[in-house]
Amino acid sequence: MKDEVMNMHEIDGLSEKSFEYIILRGKEKIGENLIEITYGDTRILVELGKALDGNGEKFEQEILKEHYSAVIVSHYHEDHAGLIQYKRDCPVYIGNGAYRIVKAMSEYHGKKMPENIVTYRNGRTFEIGGIKITPFLCDHSAFDSYMLLFEAGEKSILYSGDFRFHGRKDNNKLLAALPKSVDVLIHEGTNIGKVACTMTEAELENKTVEIMKSTGAPVFVLQSGTNIDRLVSIYRASKRSGRITYMDNYTSLIASAAGGRIPRPDVFHDAIAFTPRAVRGERKNMFFEIQNKRGLKGIASGTQRFTMLVRSTMLNYIKKLFAAADYKEATLIYSVWKGYKETEQMSEFLTGIKSLGINIIDLHTSGHACEEDIELLKQTVNAKEYVCVHTENTI
Ligand SMILES: [Zn+2]
Ligand SMILES: [Zn+2]
Repeated sequence: MKDEVMNMHEIDGLSEKSFEYIILRGKEKIGENLIEITYGDTRILVELGKALDGNGEKFEQEILKEHYSAVIVSHYHEDHAGLIQYKRDCPVYIGNGAYRIVKAMSEYHGKKMPENIVTYRNGRTFEIGGIKITPFLCDHSAFDSYMLLFEAGEKSILYSGDFRFHGRKDNNKLLAALPKSVDVLIHEGTNIGKVACTMTEAELENKTVEIMKSTGAPVFVLQSGTNIDRLVSIYRASKRSGRITYMDNYTSLIASAAGGRIPRPDVFHDAIAFTPRAVRGERKNMFFEIQNKRGLKGIASGTQRFTMLVRSTMLNYIKKLFAAADYKEATLIYSVWKGYKETEQMSEFLTGIKSLGINIIDLHTSGHACEEDIELLKQTVNAKEYVCVHTENTI
């Protein structure tokens, strides 16, 4: 295992035990975060994700065999929590709201959650083997994402997880709650040297309203089923444009798991669930519980002033809908990372969409920090040392 260590650093503490961090993965790649934090005999693994390019299996199998006092994950994205189902020999910590989403995703895929998962809450410090851990709720394209502060032996390490300051959350709350000085800041760098964040989530909502008001035809929105912030932006834009919103059964279940004021068909009268393909087995029971739902015939014979959340697997359903109704000048808003267009599935989907005469408009903003966001975080926490992870650009 130690052969894989990419960087090691020891903080000279005043206490007898040393407080150390090791970046196991993520220094040169997006989507491969793994950090080990140790204090005396206590070993904590921070994040337990799958490599997004699928090339990390050997390393991941080895890490699953290693013994840790606990695993702490910052949020539920695949590259941070994709392996938590398989780590059964120690407690695995995740945010309370994030757990509800992970559970809903697992149940949808017919899997039960393991019993060693423990949840944490914003601002509530917990301790593992002498290391104090405080989670700070932050904005990201995953619901209930956290920055994590680790403190031991009078030293501190803040790990930013994935974050951004141009989302829907009030950043001032987070900036006021964060420590005003730390020894080490380990921060994400997804957008460093790559993407300037030119649009806030609120601005995206306003642009969506403009698009939706400009037509009386259906507007399809391609977005991630687990990007709850984007779901809120699209639902709000839809409502402001006098439209109803159709949400597929998977997104409906995720939104219901998020709960609270998140738009979802079990509570909101103008959010209606649909099934893009026949549902069977356990999924059928889960979908049965959603009260507000409509079949293809009902959608095709109803108002054309609707918004429908779709994903790249739903082309056949959209084709069937177009065969059942006379839709002209429909629009698809492409609201995910543009890099997905290079994948075979997305390319086929977009070609199919164009063949139906649907106009495609790109409208997306990153779920990750832009360079100004990272600077603001640095200025806030005044670290003695900065380490950039989750990046392809070292700084
Ligand atoms: Zn990530
Ligand atoms: Zn993420």
